[in-house]
Formats: sequence, C-alpha cells, structure tokens
Amino acid sequence: MAQERIALVTGASGGIGRAIAIALAETGAYVYVNYNGSQGKAEETVRLIEEKGGQAEICKFNVGDFEETGKAIADILATKGRLDILVNNAGITKDGLMMMMTEAQFDDVININLKGAFNTIKAATRAMVKQRGGRIINITSVSGVMGNAGQANYSASKAGMIGLTKSMARELASRNITVNAVAPGFIETEMTAVLSDAVKEAAVKQIPVGRFGSPTDIANMVKYLASDEAAYITGQVICVDGGMAM
Ligand code: NAP
Repeated sequence: MAQERIALVTGASGGIGRAIAIALAETGAYVYVNYNGSQGKAEETVRLIEEKGGQAEICKFNVGDFEETGKAIADILATKGRLDILVNNAGITKDGLMMMMTEAQFDDVININLKGAFNTIKAATRAMVKQRGGRIINITSVSGVMGNAGQANYSASKAGMIGLTKSMARELASRNITVNAVAPGFIETEMTAVLSDAVKEAAVKQIPVGRFGSPTDIANMVKYLASDEAAYITGQVICVDGGMAM
C-alpha cells in the first residue's frame, strides 16, 4: 500500500481552507486542520472529513507567530515523521484606501498573509528535503496579480507570496518539491460576505463567467497541484477566477 500522505492546511476553519482540507482528505491524505481563533469551525471541518471516511485533526497555531508555527510543525513531524503537502491558505483583510490606512493595518496583513507563509515553509522545508519530495501550495489572490484599490496591504502581501512561491520553486525543484500559487478571484466565503451589494455587483461585472466562484473551485486546483500528476508544474501562479485576471 502506498504511504499515507500527511497534509497541513492553514486557516482550514474558513471557507476555502475547509474545502481544501476536505478535498485532500478525499485523496486519502491525513489532514492537519489549522486554525487560530475559530476552534468550533475547525472541529466542524474535521467532522465533515470524518463523515466521509477521511482522517484529520485540528491543529491550533497563529501563522503570524514564528515560534508557535515552528513548534506546531515540529510536533507534526515528530508524530507523523513527514509532511507531504503544505497549503498556506490562512489570510486576512484589513482594507482601506492608503490615505486612511494605518501602520497596524499594513503590518498585520503582511505578518499573517506573507510572513505566515514564510513561517510555515521555513519550518517544513528541511523535512521535505530529507524525504525528497513535497508539495507547497500558496493561496494568493488576483489582488496580488492585478492590484486592487483599497487593498494596498493585502495586494502587497499576496504579490509577496508570488515572489516567495517562485523563489522557493527554484530552490526546491531539484529535491522533487513543487511550489505553486493559486490565485482565487471572488469566492463566496465569509471574507467576501462582508462586501456591500454595490461592491459585489461591480465585482461580478469584472468576471467574464459572470458570477463568484465557490471554495470547491479552489480546492479542485489545490488537489490537482498536490497530486503526482502535477509533478512537472512548479513556480506557477494559477488564477482560478472565472477569467477575471486574464
Ligand atoms: P475566511 O473564510 O475568512 O477564512 C480565513 C481563514 O484564515 C480562517 O480559517 C482563519 O482562521 C484563518 N486565519 C486568519 N488569521 C490566522 C492566523 N493568524 N493563524 C492561522 N489562521 C488564521 O477566508 P477565505 O475566503 O476562506 O480565504 C482563504 C484564503 O483565500 C485567504 O488567504 C484569502 O486571502 C484567499 N482569498 C480569498 C478570496 C475570496 O474571495 N474569498 C479571494 C482571493 C484570495 P481562524 O478564524 O480560526 O483564526
């Protein structure tokens, strides 16, 4: 029997992360469901996975905290001996036009979205190199590809993830580790639920397929990038956005 793959999905208490965790568990992976504040939602993700016969457990840490993240990933490695799939999905928005944006709004978003991905990759890479294989998938955003008024902090964090992805892809390719980014467009989750109807209508006008996507649309791409079939794809930014950023 093939060895069980071990996966860690950050922010798997939220909409997209939960769909990714479920999709990876459906492939037979044992999934660590990371959360920071929403324990009940993380437990619900695990329940949904187990209901379908999959295996998962919750795993609390703040991706923005270097030491806490390092310790949590070290614990996974100590328990399971390996980590095959790392999905950097945890993310926040603190939107505002630059003239109104505070230093704290900028720092918080960079620290969780961009530095958070550094923190997990830093903690996981040595083990992936030793085991001579792995998949790292960073969830960026079309905002990081196109820019977005009112999201200088978020766009910068997501563009930073793209640079991180490409550099890590170059560093790790010879070790059979692929590193890719998935850039969602507008996806129906709690993150976009807070947008006003006017903003949502304006957004839909920019989307050629004429609607928001679902978390499963993103999960399907992550599942593929995590599979053996995607072994020759690395350093890419794949927009899953209904054609918005083409
Ligand atoms: P969401 O429902 O708001 O979920 C966000 C997730 O991030 C939650 O699980 C949250 O966990 C976690 N998180 C936040 N801060 C964290 C921290 N410090 N440490 C660990 N986890 C943390 O958002 P979503 O829409 O599913 O977004 C998921 C990812 O997709 C984000 O990176 C987002 O930028 C990206 N994205 C979303 C869209 C969209 O339209 N929805 C578009 C482009 C990109 P807790 O609540 O447990 O803290």
